Amino acid sequence: MNKTSGWVDEVLSEVAERNPGEHAFHQAVGEVVPSLEPVMDMHPEWRASRILERLIEPERIVSFRVPWVDDAGEVRVNRGYRVEFNSAIGPYKGGLRFHPTVNQGILKFLGFEQVFKNALTGQPIGGGKGGSDLDPKGLSDLEMMRFCQSFMNELFRHIGPDTDIPAGDIGVGGREIGFLFGQYKRLTNTFTGVLTGRSIEWGGSLIRPEATGYGAVYFAAEMEAAHGGTLQGRRCLVSGSGNVAQFAAEKLLDLGAVPITLSDSSGFIVDEDGIDRDKLAFVSELKNVRRGRIHEYAEKFRTATFTPVDRDSDRNPLWSTPADAAFPCATENEMNGVDATRLVDGGCRLVSEGANMPVTPEGQDVLRERGVLYAPGKAANAGGVAVSALEMAQASSRSFWSREEVDRRLHAIMKDIHGNCLEAAEAYGRKDDYMDGANIAGFLKVAKAMQDQGVV
Ligand code: NDP
Repeated sequence: MNKTSGWVDEVLSEVAERNPGEHAFHQAVGEVVPSLEPVMDMHPEWRASRILERLIEPERIVSFRVPWVDDAGEVRVNRGYRVEFNSAIGPYKGGLRFHPTVNQGILKFLGFEQVFKNALTGQPIGGGKGGSDLDPKGLSDLEMMRFCQSFMNELFRHIGPDTDIPAGDIGVGGREIGFLFGQYKRLTNTFTGVLTGRSIEWGGSLIRPEATGYGAVYFAAEMEAAHGGTLQGRRCLVSGSGNVAQFAAEKLLDLGAVPITLSDSSGFIVDEDGIDRDKLAFVSELKNVRRGRIHEYAEKFRTATFTPVDRDSDRNPLWSTPADAAFPCATENEMNGVDATRLVDGGCRLVSEGANMPVTPEGQDVLRERGVLYAPGKAANAGGVAVSALEMAQASSRSFWSREEVDRRLHAIMKDIHGNCLEAAEAYGRKDDYMDGANIAGFLKVAKAMQDQGVV
């Protein structure tokens, strides 16, 4: 959107050359570098010490074999990874993703985003990401346990409560964190805060499951308030039906908005009557317990329609549903330029990203050019990792905060992130642009720390 200079083009072409085939990573870096140009102009010393070039290069990547035995007695082999991206402001922190599309490039994109996001939370946490190309669909509990144990048999030597603290992401929820933690504890004979997203009974924090979805809605409410509006009565599109989507929908209901869609990789439902709390409880049971498909919603509630979606199509018709606001909470690149155009044509004036990089660069251009209030994931979905940091603080001080206390802190953090994005954008001549603001505010914190710590 901003006109780019020779410097930006140079950095991006070097990234493409040094990281061949890692398109999602190129895209993630490409979203950040143009925002940083005015910052680098003001800090020639950071150009000289090659802060950005160092920040783009992960500090360490480990990749390993994950062999395991399925219920039929067959040996299966997957690949595991941990990308330890940047530890300038604290130990590496970021989720684990189990999904067949996982590869090094995807995890580098997610790790890179995580560095900025974690800095934005104001908590002392660096950025990392990991996972496996495992397809969890259809696995029994015992198969998932054996997989997690094998995965941890290698991962445990690279992580630790002061080194690297993984959490959940797509395909890794409470069940998987339990299996991973159990194996880590057995291997190291320690009970430490090495993973977050733990169950309340063994060191978790209240509100951690809710935090990402709640935070994306708190951020949206802040954007509305800063522009004289409110979420009250707004009809909202939510994509996905996993952890982030479910709790985004719940918080929308709390704030008087009306969520009308949910999706999974097979298609989406539209419920023009609104997805109320009873319907949401059905979704929670469907997805978290029965691990079923979203079309069952439309079979249960006759007010809804289900539309199957072809995964290879270059359109996502969910975004053609007329609405006031959108919360993409499924996965990367789920809204392209055409989708964004249809979304805005349908009346949408606000987009808050629960997922990581759900809008393509073309989609972002449409949203920004047409004046939509647009919050990138690194700001809007930072609530999850922020409460992970609160979980770490509670674990290390052996304290336990009430639901209200954690929610109050989450809300305050999201307000701060919102304010810091606006402030940074204005300070560097990009007033009211949340994307530039998030990139600049996150970068400033990490860059200052890197400069202080010398060339390492
Ligand atoms: P879940 O696994 O709980 O849910 C993911 C949802 O997205 C499911 O409905 C899934 O459908 C759908 N989905 C996944 N891949 C695709 C695809 N390729 N095409 C269409 N739909 C897809 O994950 P989360 O809710 O935890 O994560 C969702 C997003 O939020 C991700 O981008 C994640 O990185 C991001 N995020 C998550 C955080 C967290 O705290 N959990 C923190 C910050 C960001 P299906 O079941 O059919 O695959």
